[in-house]
Amino acid sequence: MDHPSRLKKCEQTLIEQDLDGLVVTHPANLRYLCGFTGSNGLLLFLAGRRVFFTDGRYTQQAREEVSGARVFIAKGLLLDDAAKLIGKLSSAAVGFEAEYTSVAAADQMRKQVHNKIEWKATTGLIMRQRMIKDAEELRIITDAVKLGAAVYEDALRTICPGVRESEVAGRLEYAAVRAGADGVSFKTIVAAGRRSALPHRRASSEPIPKRGFVVVDSGVILRGYCSDMTRTVHMGSVSREQRRWYEAVLEAQLAGIGAVAPGKAVAEVDQATRRVLRKAGLDRYFTHSTGHGVGLEIHEPPRLANQQSERLEPGMVITIEPGVYVPGKGGIRIEDMVVVTGSGSRVLTPVTKQLIEV
Ligand code: ZN
Ligand code: ZN
Repeated sequence: MDHPSRLKKCEQTLIEQDLDGLVVTHPANLRYLCGFTGSNGLLLFLAGRRVFFTDGRYTQQAREEVSGARVFIAKGLLLDDAAKLIGKLSSAAVGFEAEYTSVAAADQMRKQVHNKIEWKATTGLIMRQRMIKDAEELRIITDAVKLGAAVYEDALRTICPGVRESEVAGRLEYAAVRAGADGVSFKTIVAAGRRSALPHRRASSEPIPKRGFVVVDSGVILRGYCSDMTRTVHMGSVSREQRRWYEAVLEAQLAGIGAVAPGKAVAEVDQATRRVLRKAGLDRYFTHSTGHGVGLEIHEPPRLANQQSERLEPGMVITIEPGVYVPGKGGIRIEDMVVVTGSGSRVLTPVTKQLIEV
């Protein structure tokens, strides 16, 4: 991983933001910036220096993983040691990650340094950098998506009436780990029959009925990076009405993908999927946003929703996942991962979207 240029770019941002330092503790940001994969770390940027603090459990791991910063093993709270270092400066403006810092921790930080040190709440400094994936990240994400697709297709073969939803999910998750995944990006969703109308219903111990839709939403983590995909199959032969719903969701999904291009506002992509469902009279059943960014975390910016002002840029990896959920009857969601390219987009998920009747 190109940690040196990520660290440099972050330091460049600090200059632009008039910050002399930054405290980073969010695990995904730490992994991104310096390679540390443990759960307790603090990276301090301070006046051109970089110090990484962790506790004794991670001594070996930090020495092996952390690049671009001096490793320091703290005896107590990492922040106490970081504050001591910061307090040596006569004055400084030091940022912290507002979205990952509790009010109590922020108060504590203020108490630990003299009054010429100014703590500044920052949001999204590193996330903005993480939104644009580099070539190596895109390679890993592509591999994660392929692995996620392979284990989905394997699990699909286990779907039949009477099999518990949790059994299908378990098969998928086990196959992922066996194939070399670090784990799954989130608890696998297998929602069959009427339960398919609940957009984020996790797999239950209920058996799959003889008829109705089955929504499978799953993802794996490979070398830290997440995949995310959804397919919907139908048990038995599908009615004309339900086929119409499925075709409308598919058409909406393709319209969403078609709208992805550099410079495009994310709200426009959201509108593209919604427009198709409105024409089909189904938009009131589409109750979530069109998609989200994916990377080291399963839900990252940008969020593809109506009120969002973000514009797409080459290197962003997003999902396009419209759905229709008719209460008491059933639901359909189709989700691909898509990378924004210089001229448009490339779909990463290599799985058919034609309706499969099991
Ligand atoms: Zn998903
Ligand atoms: Zn998703």
